[in-house]
Amino acid sequence: MHGTEHMPTSVRVTDITARDGFQNIKEWIPTEVKIAVIDALAAAGVRKMEATSFVSPKAVPQMADAAQVIEHCRNHLPQVELVALAPNLRGAENAAKAGVPEISYVVSASAAHNKANINRTHDESLSDLAAIGEAFPSLKINLSMSTVFGCPFDGETPVEKVLWLLEESVKRGAGSVTLCDTIGVANPRQVAAVVEAVKAQFPRLPLALHLHDTHGMGLANTLAALQAGVDCFETAAGGLGGCPFAPGAAGNTSTEDMVNMLHRMGVATGLDMEKYLSAVAIVREKVNPAIPGRLASARTYSEFCFFSCA
Ligand code: ZN
Repeated sequence: MHGTEHMPTSVRVTDITARDGFQNIKEWIPTEVKIAVIDALAAAGVRKMEATSFVSPKAVPQMADAAQVIEHCRNHLPQVELVALAPNLRGAENAAKAGVPEISYVVSASAAHNKANINRTHDESLSDLAAIGEAFPSLKINLSMSTVFGCPFDGETPVEKVLWLLEESVKRGAGSVTLCDTIGVANPRQVAAVVEAVKAQFPRLPLALHLHDTHGMGLANTLAALQAGVDCFETAAGGLGGCPFAPGAAGNTSTEDMVNMLHRMGVATGLDMEKYLSAVAIVREKVNPAIPGRLASARTYSEFCFFSCA
C-alpha cells in the first residue's frame, strides 16, 4: 500500500474527552460525573489526558471545577500525564498553581478565528506566550494551533501562515505542537501536505493531530497523517466535542473509532477497547445520549468473534 513505509507501529492517544468533549456541553456536568469518566478512561489505558481547561468561568462555566478535577487526577491517577488548556497568562498561572505539568496554549492560525475565539490578535497571543514561558519556565507548553486547515471566517488556511505562527511560537517557548482541524474541513491530501511541510521545517518538534469529523473525514485524515509519520492523535470518547463557530457540526474524531481502525491495521495504542467502550457508556448515560461515534452505536469487538483485541 502506498505510504506505509513511514507508518508508525504504535500511536499515542491524548484523550480530550474531559476538555474538548465536555467544554461544548451546555448543561452543567457534575464534578463527580467528570471524574467517573476520567477514571474509566484511565482504566481503559489512557496515559495522556487533556483533563480540563483553565478559562474564565464566566466565559465557560462548564470548566469552573478545573482545579478540583486536576486535584483528583493528581491524587488518584499518577500514571496519567496531565494536560490542561490555557488560553492566556492567567489560565497558565492557574494551571501551574493546580500542579499541571503541561498546558495546551491555544492560538488560531487564522487571525479572524483567533479574535473570535479568544479575543486576541496574533501579536497579543505571541507576547502572552512569551510571558508564560518566562513566568513558568518548568511548565511544558504545547501549542494547540486551531484552524490549521480552514477557518469559518477566512476559508482555507495557507500553509505559510501555519509555518510562520509555529516558528514564532517555538521562539517563544512552545515545545510541541498540535495541528487542529477545528471545524473539520481538512481533506487527506491537505493533511499529508501540511504535515510534510511542518516536519520539513521542524523535524524534531513533537507533533500531534486533532481532527474533527464534521464532514466524515476524521478517520481518512487520521490515516493520511499516519502515513505521513504522525504517531500522536487527540481524540474524544464517542466523538464528543465541537466548535461554537460550527453549530451542529459533529465533534472530534472518536477515540474508539480511531483505535478500532488502528488495532485492525496492526498499530498498537495500549488501549483496551472493551474498557474504553465502558467509558463511552458512562458518557452516553450521564453526559450526552446522542454521541456521534460509530463503534459505540454499532456492535462491539467482542460481538465480532473473528476479531481479536490488540
Ligand atoms: Zn476538538
